[in-house]
Amino acid sequence: MSSCTFDLPHYRVLLDAAKEGGYAFAFFDHEPRPGDLFLRHDVDLSLEAALTLAELESEEEAPATYFLMTQSTFYNLAAPPGEAAVERLRALGHRVGLHAVWPRAELDERFDPVVAWHNPDPPYMSESIDGADNVMSPRFFARDRYRSDSNQHWRSGCPHEALARGDFEWLQLLTHPEIWVYDGTTMRQTMESMLAAERELRWRQLAEDRIDLS
Ligand SMILES: [Zn+2]
Ligand SMILES: [Zn+2]
Repeated sequence: MSSCTFDLPHYRVLLDAAKEGGYAFAFFDHEPRPGDLFLRHDVDLSLEAALTLAELESEEEAPATYFLMTQSTFYNLAAPPGEAAVERLRALGHRVGLHAVWPRAELDERFDPVVAWHNPDPPYMSESIDGADNVMSPRFFARDRYRSDSNQHWRSGCPHEALARGDFEWLQLLTHPEIWVYDGTTMRQTMESMLAAERELRWRQLAEDRIDLS
């Protein structure tokens, strides 16, 4: 469907469709109930993209759970921008879970007790975790109640029409903020856009770090 683009206007369409279908935005803190929509974001690459999407969702009164990494190759949650991102996400009414890298699921005060594994392998993907909920455990995961935008591709189609019709008893909807925030009709193009934006960000960070740019 050419109208189902991966951009912020279509993300709003998804949220509006969910409202039209009568869904309620839910957090991973209870057994799924009919009509629950669990908005899940795995933040793989960009805290800036996460914050952009979080602001939009706040405007739309659509709270989500953001899964952030402590072992990311791409961002540092312990640096001031990382700390500010956690604070801003919570101020906007979102929850923050851990996007963990196997086998470490070490939760601290930054996180709600909920974990999503990054690029999980089948043997542990659905296994229970001590002291935390696993979003892919049978409690929260069923094949027909789960949609994901992985690598800018919906395996079972964009769910906006099915949401508007109320087809899902409940749904876990996994989206990656980078895919929606940065322009591009392929993952490759979207990554080009992200890298162009990050080049600008890096220049500002260099100036803030008192690097001589004269
Ligand atoms: Zn769509
Ligand atoms: Zn991930």
